[in-house]
Amino acid sequence: MADKNYYTIDPLGKLRCMKCNVPLVKGKARFMYLDNGFPVELPVCPSCGFVYVPEELALGKVLAVEKALEDK
Ligand SMILES: [Zn+2]
Repeated sequence: MADKNYYTIDPLGKLRCMKCNVPLVKGKARFMYLDNGFPVELPVCPSCGFVYVPEELALGKVLAVEKALEDK
């Protein structure tokens, strides 16, 4: 099975880690929802590993993820 990303956010150099004050980079992460881990790409801090989880992913977008599973 191909590596499918359910969600991608490219920080485009606009987001910064508030702790390290370095630009976040796009990195692979895993969004946990209902005992499943969905591969996603989110802005991560290359220094401390902080993963930026946007509110839309934490809330509404999970419904889209769920639908994507059902459509399989
Ligand atoms: Zn950091």
